[in-house]
Amino acid sequence: MSLRRAIFPGSFDPLTNGHLDIIKRSLPLFDEIIIAVLNNPEKKPMFSVEERCAMLREILPEIKNGKCALIVDSFSGLTADFARQKDAQAIVRGIRAISDYEYELRMALMNRRLEPNIETVFLMAAEEYSYVSSNLMKQVFTLGGRVEGLIPELVETRMREKLNKTL
Ligand code: ADP
Repeated sequence: MSLRRAIFPGSFDPLTNGHLDIIKRSLPLFDEIIIAVLNNPEKKPMFSVEERCAMLREILPEIKNGKCALIVDSFSGLTADFARQKDAQAIVRGIRAISDYEYELRMALMNRRLEPNIETVFLMAAEEYSYVSSNLMKQVFTLGGRVEGLIPELVETRMREKLNKTL
């Protein structure tokens, strides 16, 4: 039997409870999930790709459950290329609202054209995180708003350290 391997690609700048919710929902579906952190220096991220990977590696053991292995890796370039290199059968994406759908549909169809054997699997976010995005969390936190319960505590601590450094 071959391994059911998926990649879950994204910026994760930073990781939110919405991302964790999607990872938890994926656990029973696959034997191995590679959380694939996109290296996107041109987007001026808050956290370097190494910092984002380190936070994921620290937090993921808390949600691990069952046999599915969780691996953190980073990539640049095409998601479809990375998925093929890793021998993954699926690309996991989260859908929060209709507004995500159009973009995700285009990406899924393009990725299917590039790699016909790799399926995109969409999972619906939990309602309580359906408005949570990394960008919104960064904006609210930077302006002094409360984001408790929407991002892991470790991420909040790291964001505070970042802010204090730049002040
Ligand atoms: P990108 O930069 O490609 O948007 P993100 O890091 O924002 O990547 O997100 C990675 C994946 O996680 C995407 O499929 C996105 O839809 C999903 N996602 C992000 N936030 C949430 C959330 N609150 N609930 C469910 N899925 C989410």
